[in-house]
Amino acid sequence: MKVTVDTRKCDGNGKCVEVAPKVFKLNERFISVVIDPKGDTDQRILLAAKVCPTKAIILEEEETGKRIFP
Ligand code: SF4
Repeated sequence: MKVTVDTRKCDGNGKCVEVAPKVFKLNERFISVVIDPKGDTDQRILLAAKVCPTKAIILEEEETGKRIFP
């Protein structure tokens, strides 16, 4: 699964980091960055995307590029 953070939408509240700390971390500007897209299960990463209040986390199928979320 391809995991991307739309940095324009991220407001740095860190909810994704709480759910999947091996996948996301906040950088020095308090913007979420993907450190390891395989750092947790797809299900857990989907949950992280769902708890993001600004819908900044974009999930796509690796091979087809098909949008999974949002
Ligand atoms: S939950 Fe969303 S808004 Fe909050 S830090 Fe993660 S990507 Fe940014």
